[in-house]
Amino acid sequence: MTTQATYGLHASTMPDEQGLLGEFGGKIGHPELAKAMDELEIGFRQIIKDDDFIAEMQRLRETYVGRPSPIYHAKRLSEHCGGAKIYLKREDLNHTGSHKINHCLGEALLAKKLGKTKVLAETGAGQHGVALATAAALMGLECEIHMGVVDIKKEHPNVSRMKILGAKIVPVSRGAGTLKEAVDSAFEAYLEDIDNSMFAIGSVVGPAPYPEMVGYFQSVVGHEARAQFLAANGKLPDKVVACIGGGSNAMGIFSGFLGDEGVEKVAVEPAGEGLDTPRHAATMAKGVKGEIQGFKCYVLLDEQGEPAQVHSIASGLDYPGVGPQHSHLRDTGLATYVSATDQECLDAFMALSQLEGIIPALESAHAVAHAIKVAKTMSPDETILVNLSGRGDKDIDYILDKVGLA
Ligand SMILES: *Cc1c(COP(=O)(O)O)cnc(C)c1O
Repeated sequence: MTTQATYGLHASTMPDEQGLLGEFGGKIGHPELAKAMDELEIGFRQIIKDDDFIAEMQRLRETYVGRPSPIYHAKRLSEHCGGAKIYLKREDLNHTGSHKINHCLGEALLAKKLGKTKVLAETGAGQHGVALATAAALMGLECEIHMGVVDIKKEHPNVSRMKILGAKIVPVSRGAGTLKEAVDSAFEAYLEDIDNSMFAIGSVVGPAPYPEMVGYFQSVVGHEARAQFLAANGKLPDKVVACIGGGSNAMGIFSGFLGDEGVEKVAVEPAGEGLDTPRHAATMAKGVKGEIQGFKCYVLLDEQGEPAQVHSIASGLDYPGVGPQHSHLRDTGLATYVSATDQECLDAFMALSQLEGIIPALESAHAVAHAIKVAKTMSPDETILVNLSGRGDKDIDYILDKVGLA
């Protein structure tokens, strides 16, 4: 197997020494955590230059995850829209069913190289928990997942998967018993065993070095996609579209195209029941500059100035903040941020399922919804590349109820 660089971030999304991108991002203040973050950052910078690490990463991507994921021309969907040709980057075909395995493998491999015996994380819907539990099983690491009791009930299949994979689930019953409390609980547990553990964040969020590290591991998606698209079509796509919660899958695919001015980079956030209602999670459209979980970004705040309770039909997108790289890309105009409602997401979910035989994750269906909307306004020789971040097996019971097929 040939050793090659495991890709990386474009200069426009690299933080400075303070972990800042413009006014966004930053390092953690808490002294003990700061020490652990420094250790992580130094370790990360070392391993990404290490040939053994690169070769191992490459081997696992090819033989375990199933990379490269293909690019597929969705002909029937394109014809249905009438306009631009729509292509899909099939991250839904990865082992465990989404892009999350890309950074979880990287994080677990890094934990192992740093001599850690355990990875720790919080999870909301359980997607990050399952991908991390998978990577931990593969590397022989202990895995501890903190999860709100409300989410444990709601996301039962993912809880079962994590248990089967050998992870320890820590139920969190304080407060509302959801993601926010799970984050606090996981951080407390991490502080108790900081020497032996590594905290593994599930998106391009949190203090430095997480946004850079997770972005780096996800950049494989964009670099692969650019080469594949060029080889198949002899030109680059006109638009690259991805859904955005914290921003890891969007960061991944954007990374391949940030040097290409002619390619419009579009991220689609959840407009929920509408931007004029309180029931959405459209951080870029409606948020302000603020702070969440130890980093600066655009954030949706409630009346008390705390991160708001937000809503999306796709639980992987209902986060009141957004990664610092995206906050910066928005302010510099290098990427565009739009939104799709729950209803548009449902329509796109059914359209892709019934026109192409591909059941997307509800998260990914937001990106598909935007592609459907804009394809009509474009000409047949123009192209849109959508990052299909995950598959929808996890969502089928919910959908059956929702569209009246149950
Ligand atoms: C978690 C998840 C997302 C949202 O996370 P990002 O960090 O914004 O990519 C999107 N799609 C799928 C399938 C997910 O599991």
